[in-house]
Amino acid sequence: MSDKITQEGFSYTFDPSACETCQARCCTGESGYIHVNHQEIEAIASFAGLDNDVFMQRFLFKNGYKYSIKEHKVAESYECAFYDRASNGCMIYEVRPMQCRTFPFWDYFKTRVDELKLECPGVADA
Ligand code: SF4
Ligand code: SF4
Repeated sequence: MSDKITQEGFSYTFDPSACETCQARCCTGESGYIHVNHQEIEAIASFAGLDNDVFMQRFLFKNGYKYSIKEHKVAESYECAFYDRASNGCMIYEVRPMQCRTFPFWDYFKTRVDELKLECPGVADA
């Protein structure tokens, strides 16, 4: 039985087993925005045991009217502040933002499948 995930409206599939060996390309690599809404900010701050204000100051920055998670530069790569290289995992996995939960099924990629395939080895044509 295939473990591949499909989603209506998308022309590709996603195999989550690829995450085991890919070194989290979706959490590292080129710099990007990892947006969080107010509910997510509260949930992550609570999960981290921090006051909202402290959490926001330490881990977020403003991008227009939105907030995004800060990144660290490691060699030539930018890594999400919550990416843990040692375990190759997300430190806030249980409360990770919707943007992370829904990857790679983003509307943006519906017409950019080739670009997505370069980033995510779990993606294949349906
Ligand atoms: S880039 Fe794709 S395969 Fe790699 S960790 Fe992210 S979702 Fe998994
Ligand atoms: S919050 Fe977690 S899943 Fe999302 S980019 Fe950061 S490390 Fe990756």
